[in-house]
Amino acid sequence: MANDKQTCQVLIIGGGPAGIATAITLHARGIRCCVVEAHASPVRKSGEAIPPNAKPLLKQLGIETLVQHEKHKVYYGNKSCWGSNQLEQKEFISDRLGHGFLLDRLYFETQLQALYQATNQDFYKGFKLKKVVSDNDKIVATIENDSETITLQSQFIIDASGRKASVCRHLDVQKENLDSQFAITFNTKLSGKIPHEISVEATENGWWYVAPFAKNEVTMMFFTLKVLLPAKENMETFLQNELQQTVHLSKTIQNIKIDTVKIMPAGTSCLQIPYGKNWLAVGDAAYSFDPISSYGITSALASGFYGGHAVADYLNGKDEALNVYRYVVENAFQAYLHKLIAHYELEKRWEESYYWTHRLAVFPSETAL
Ligand SMILES: Cc1cc2nc3c(=O)[nH]c(=O)nc-3n(C[C@H](O)[C@H](O)[C@H](O)COP(=O)(O)OP(=O)(O)OC[C@H]3O[C@@H](n4cnc5c(N)ncnc54)[C@H](O)[C@@H]3O)c2cc1C
Repeated sequence: MANDKQTCQVLIIGGGPAGIATAITLHARGIRCCVVEAHASPVRKSGEAIPPNAKPLLKQLGIETLVQHEKHKVYYGNKSCWGSNQLEQKEFISDRLGHGFLLDRLYFETQLQALYQATNQDFYKGFKLKKVVSDNDKIVATIENDSETITLQSQFIIDASGRKASVCRHLDVQKENLDSQFAITFNTKLSGKIPHEISVEATENGWWYVAPFAKNEVTMMFFTLKVLLPAKENMETFLQNELQQTVHLSKTIQNIKIDTVKIMPAGTSCLQIPYGKNWLAVGDAAYSFDPISSYGITSALASGFYGGHAVADYLNGKDEALNVYRYVVENAFQAYLHKLIAHYELEKRWEESYYWTHRLAVFPSETAL
C-alpha cells in the first residue's frame, strides 16, 4: 500500500545513538524532524563500554541520568596485556572524571528512543529506507515495512544508519574500509564472581576483550582479520585455543561454554567527506572505529550533537556550518588514527604472525598522517 508524501524538515535514517542524539539536538533547536528505524523495537548490539571522559558529553546532551539507571553498571578500570606478557592495570579512581559505564546496550537504546518519542515527533519504527533521491532543494525518500510503502519529503537527510551508511550508498557516496578486522562475540557464564573492569589481551592471531555484564556473566569478543576467521564448524576449537594461549585471561576464564557466536565487521572505515548537498552523516555511518578505542558510542553521540547543531545552523542560513562540522569530525578521526596506529605498533611479540604483520598494512603510515 502506498500513500501520499509526508513532509518534515530533517529526515534521520537510523534510531541508534547517533540518530537519536541528532534528533534530540534538532528538536531542542526547534527543527521538526522524523526518524526512520529498521527495527520495530531495539535489538541487542555489540558495544557497551563508555569511558569516563564521555561524561561531559552525556551531560551536554541531557542524558547523564539515563546511564545512572541500575541496569547499567559502572566500571573502574582496564586490565591490559599488550606488547609484553605483563598485565597493566589502569584505575579510573585517580581519573578526574571517575568511573566509566558498562551499558546494558539494549536498555540504553530503549531509553534513547523513549526520550525521542517524548518529543512527539514522527518515528517510523520497523521501516527500512529503500530509496533516496536528492532533487534540487529537497530530499525524497521511500521507506517500507512488510505491508506499507511511504514517501517522505524533507529539506535535509541525516545518515545515522551505522557502519553500512545506507543513505550514502543510495547517494553514491563511498565509504572506505581501512582494514578488515572482524569480531567474534559471545556471552558466557563464569564459575566465580569477576571484578567490574574490562580486560584486553593480545594473542598471536588477534586480541581478546572481556567485559562483565551480570554477576558472573561476561561478554567476550575475539578480534581477528577476515582471512583468519575459522569455518563455522571449527569456531569453538579456534576460540578455546586462542583463550588457552593467553597468559592472564586463561587463569580466570576456564571451562567456559561457547554456544552462539556472532561475527561482524569491527575495523576502521570512513567516508571521503561526511556531508554534501542536503545530507550529512553521523556516528558509524561517517566514521567507524576499532573497538579497541572504546570510542564508537561516544563518537556517535558527539557527532549527533555537533551534527545536529550544524544542520540547524545551516537551515538557519549559516552556509559554512556543515564545513565546520567536517573540520571537527575529520580532526577527531585523525587523532584517533594516530592513537590507533601507535597502540598496534606496541605489540611486537609475534613477528611471524599474519595478524600482527598485516594489522596496519592498509593504514597510512604514522608519518603520512
Ligand atoms: C564488536 C564491537 C564491539 C564494540 N564495542 C564498543 C565499546 O565497547 N564501546 C563503544 O563506544 N563502542 C563500541 N562499538 C561501536 C559501537 O557499537 C558503535 O560505534 C555504535 O553503535 C554506533 O552508533 P550509531 O548510532 O552510529 O550506529 P548503530 O548503533 O549501528 O545504529 C544504526 C541504526 O540504523 C538502523 N538502520 C540501518 N540501516 C537502516 C535502513 N536502511 N533504514 C532504517 N534504519 C536503518 C539500524 O537498525 C540501527 O539501529 C563496538 C562495535 C563492535 C562491532
